[in-house]
Amino acid sequence: MSTIDLVCFDRSLPSDDLLGQIHSGAMAGNRPANEAISEVARTEAAYLLGKTWPNGTRLKVRFLNGTASEQAFVRQYAVEWSRYANLDFDFTNAGSSEIRISFGPYGSWSYVGNDATQIPLDQPTMNFGWQASGTVLHEFGHALGMIHEHQNPRSNPIVWNEPEVIRYFGGPPNNWDPDKVRRNVILRYSETVTNGSQFDPDSIMLYSYPSRLTLNGVGTHENSVLSAIDQQVIARMYPGRGSVTPSNTPLRLDAPISSSISAAGEEDIYSFEVLTSGRYRFETTGGTDLVMTIFDSNNVRLSYDDDSGGNLQPRIIRNLMPGRYSIRLGHYGSTGTGSYTLSVKRV
Ligand SMILES: [Zn+2]
Repeated sequence: MSTIDLVCFDRSLPSDDLLGQIHSGAMAGNRPANEAISEVARTEAAYLLGKTWPNGTRLKVRFLNGTASEQAFVRQYAVEWSRYANLDFDFTNAGSSEIRISFGPYGSWSYVGNDATQIPLDQPTMNFGWQASGTVLHEFGHALGMIHEHQNPRSNPIVWNEPEVIRYFGGPPNNWDPDKVRRNVILRYSETVTNGSQFDPDSIMLYSYPSRLTLNGVGTHENSVLSAIDQQVIARMYPGRGSVTPSNTPLRLDAPISSSISAAGEEDIYSFEVLTSGRYRFETTGGTDLVMTIFDSNNVRLSYDDDSGGNLQPRIIRNLMPGRYSIRLGHYGSTGTGSYTLSVKRV
């Protein structure tokens, strides 16, 4: 009957006093839930703003136990984050480490971001109660400072059926008490402490749960890979590697957009909707040495250009059928940065 597996919970420091505040909020009875939640959020905070590691950190990760294959499994998936985040994981059993992993009962969980530095060195900051690639990505997302996506305050469509949620997670296999359910599922952070995207149904940080837990029938599917938005959010938190411009910024006919490649390796992605078949010209100005690639809606690469516009500027002119296209801009050099203006005209 249960469609959900054990789910992860966040550990927070006693100094955050999160639980105490939820207690008081919950016990106040008629107090609007959101009010209690935003109070909690101010102290708990999130990625977010207070709990990230310094950009470029090399985080040491040590296994406290586990078999060689359990450890290799975690390593294999954890490093996925560092393709997008300007952070590296140094798996080592020598010396002290910021992240300490145990394999044991009592669920899968992690402290959020740099809270881990306040845990005694002989104790784990992350635990795996079972083995799944999505769980490794999820826990490492917490370790980098990410919160649960169902607790994202931005345009979150979920309207919880709270008694049902408490009953559901209170039963096996999780057996959580109501406070834990509130803290890991129902509570929403306030926008002032989080820095992220709009609600992302594909986020690795989202629990999967059936629609009957909500009043508005919004269930979620299980996610086991980093979504495009996860990649962008982490790239914004730790800039220097992946794309940091929100993907699919709409580009409109005769409406130039000015932006910049602000970090090495950044790729800016725009979407363009063709309403009428015709010949279109995409070009940049600004002197930054860019390359441009156009993809169709199936991500098939249609055109690539480096310098056709002169002065190191890419220019692509081609016939397009009605549909949605994406335009990707990057610097010609792997470490280059600079500003530009992108435009499209019908010709
Ligand atoms: Zn979690």
